[in-house]
Amino acid sequence: MAHTPTPLQPLRRLHAERGGPLIWLKRDDMTGSILSGNKVRKLEFIAAKAKSGGFTALITCGGMQSNHCRATAFVAAQLGLKCHLILRGEPADKSMAEGNLLLNRLSGCSISFHSTAEYNAHLPDLFAAAESRLQDQGFPALKIPTGGSNGDGIWGYIAASEELCSDFRHHHIQPRSLVVATGSGGTQAGLIAGMSHFVPQLSVYGVNVCDDAAYFHHKIEKDFDEWHNQYRDHAKQLDSSNVLTEKINIIEGYVGDGYGLVSHDVLKMMQKLSRLEGVVFDPVYTGKAFHGLLAEIDKGRFKDERDLVFVHTGGLFGLFPYADQLATIV
Ligand SMILES: *Cc1c(COP(=O)(O)O)cnc(C)c1O
Repeated sequence: MAHTPTPLQPLRRLHAERGGPLIWLKRDDMTGSILSGNKVRKLEFIAAKAKSGGFTALITCGGMQSNHCRATAFVAAQLGLKCHLILRGEPADKSMAEGNLLLNRLSGCSISFHSTAEYNAHLPDLFAAAESRLQDQGFPALKIPTGGSNGDGIWGYIAASEELCSDFRHHHIQPRSLVVATGSGGTQAGLIAGMSHFVPQLSVYGVNVCDDAAYFHHKIEKDFDEWHNQYRDHAKQLDSSNVLTEKINIIEGYVGDGYGLVSHDVLKMMQKLSRLEGVVFDPVYTGKAFHGLLAEIDKGRFKDERDLVFVHTGGLFGLFPYADQLATIV
């Protein structure tokens, strides 16, 4: 379902301007047009599980503009499965027709909206209610956690690590660091597990866009545990060392005012990269994380490195609800 391999492209004009390591973008914003972004890589494996397990519906959850929910809705539509989305927040009239939410409506999935308080307090109940409603209609449903980050989804970025390994050979580079935006942890978890097998000299860094480092250490450990328990033999082949949890590197300090809240500096950087390199980031994930990467380079964190990788995880549709804020800088 994902259009892979995606390109790996150097940001040469940015490098000429700033010096420091040459940043290579792994263009996972190009995994598809509607399924674009990192989520489809996880969903390929999750959908396979749904198919093989006899499930005919998918249920998942996320914020109002969740890229994961939109990708899940279209994976379901492409496979002829039912889909229900549990969304956090209540749509203002305007956002009814914006970005990911607009696409969700086109996909034909059912949607329930819940206040943040209700969502945070009762998410398992909301899943159970949707599951029993679908069951009553004759559709056994697979429940997919936030971001598709679980023991199945992790395979998406293990496979992507193998792909990156061959990208590095093709471009004759040996990067020592890779940076990615971390929101529910599954992408980083997959990259840690995959890279420790395919490119062991490389360290994976996640710039968290919500919560904090302690939260993600715990969350990623939990994903590893689930993966180990479900796929013991495969996991052992990939990870003989069993020290994956020691390789969890979170770069903290770039959440700003909160998840989904974007600063003027991040928007300015996004505008700059659009003009300098023709690359568009999103305000919620990639823009924040890339801004964090540049700030860390300025502080000297990656100073002796020649080539460095940033995974562009997509999120374009999440840009559109920020039109008003962008208008103040463009
Ligand atoms: C979900 C998402 C991320 C974060 O990936 P996780 O696996 O949830 O940590 C990064 N970028 C974009 C655009 C996303 O939609």
